[in-house]
Amino acid sequence: MSQIIDGKMVAETMKVAIGEEVKQMVAAGQKAPHLVAILVGNNGASETYVANKVKSCEELGFASTLLRFDPSISEADLLAEVQKVNDNPDMDGLIVQLPLPKHINPDKVMETIHPSKDVDGFHPINIGRMAKGLPAYISATPQGVLDLLAYYKIETAGKHCVVVGRSQIVGLPMSILMQRNHPVGNCTVTLTHSRTTNLAEICSQGDIVIAALGIPEFIKSAHIKPGAVVIDVGLTRVEDATKKSGFALKGDVDFDDVAPKCSYITPVPKGVGPMTIVSLMKNTLLAAKGVIYPKN
Ligand code: NAP
Repeated sequence: MSQIIDGKMVAETMKVAIGEEVKQMVAAGQKAPHLVAILVGNNGASETYVANKVKSCEELGFASTLLRFDPSISEADLLAEVQKVNDNPDMDGLIVQLPLPKHINPDKVMETIHPSKDVDGFHPINIGRMAKGLPAYISATPQGVLDLLAYYKIETAGKHCVVVGRSQIVGLPMSILMQRNHPVGNCTVTLTHSRTTNLAEICSQGDIVIAALGIPEFIKSAHIKPGAVVIDVGLTRVEDATKKSGFALKGDVDFDDVAPKCSYITPVPKGVGPMTIVSLMKNTLLAAKGVIYPKN
């Protein structure tokens, strides 16, 4: 049976360390890191995600500001609001919760966030710097996966890593990060997507398989080579009458089928999910300290 990677425990450990550092900053007379979240409209899932980020700020001693806008806000007005945050030296990091209403181009919004405040790591400058191996904000979920691999001291150098999914926020950065010449990296990477024809065959050659495709329980034991490390990024709400809430969270990996075959596996929930918010907090702390982009 495989070892279960306990993302909740790792995230809690990292939160304690971040909270301690913030306490010391404040005790030394510095200001606490300040995260700003922009939420447009009232999409239920977005509300929950943003509420969790604000709650994490409170827990770790960060300042936070939630800027809410009506879904009818124009693109120009939203860009102006982003610019106001860019210009405010008290605000260290800015996230704009996606998705945005259809009339607003998310790429324009991301490109308007100043790279030094782009703690989600979505700005092309941060993506480019990451690809070049320069200091950059790395998007939260891929960073969380790297931290899990590091915490469990899982050897990555020389391994074949198969990433399933090529999204801008998960699969693509994950593939870039796993091939870097870095303590967690140096893999030979195969990036797969919906047009990949022989997915099971490719996955079953992976020493490390990172699933981020958004189809619940898609990855079965037939996709996995014995002893592989399996990281499940997927998170989909599915109806489940046996649950009080009426739904359950499912990953992209069929855990019961795959777990007996692999060496390590992340569960869903309590795997990659809890790491994502911690990574965002870590990036905001870096922003407050001026580590990636020096403060003026
Ligand atoms: P996304 O933007 O929908 O991208 C999905 C990717 O999977 C696309 O590249 C798509 O290929 C590929 N794909 C779809 N069907 C496939 C198939 N049958 N075989 C191989 N590849 C396939 O999704 P995302 O934002 O990356 O999210 C992926 C999953 O991770 C979702 O369940 C999401 O909820 C979850 N997630 C979790 C966290 C967390 O904190 N745990 C954070 C972010 C996302 P094409 O490019 O060809 O369309």
